[in-house]
Amino acid sequence: MRIACPFCGERENGEFTYLGDASPERPNFAVDGRESPDRVEDAFYDYVYLRDNVAGVMREYWYHGGGCRSWLVAERNTVTHEFISVTAAPGAGAASAVRAGE
Ligand SMILES: [Zn+2]
Repeated sequence: MRIACPFCGERENGEFTYLGDASPERPNFAVDGRESPDRVEDAFYDYVYLRDNVAGVMREYWYHGGGCRSWLVAERNTVTHEFISVTAAPGAGAASAVRAGE
């Protein structure tokens, strides 16, 4: 399996580390005590522990530790292992460095 890093090009998957589902979004509650503690606890429990077992395309975090050390977001078909797209994760350090010409 080969992964096309947006910074380094196509590389063997042994250079990368799978870091999990990129889809969950952190719950955002105002710190005003209006939300019920049970609702907040349930939302964070879901965010931290529950993941879908997708048979098809899903968004995943990958880390290119054997190359540019960038965090990446990949769309991968979990049935065929085909990578549909690989982009820099939001806030990835290498992405900023490339744009700044470093
Ligand atoms: Zn890379």
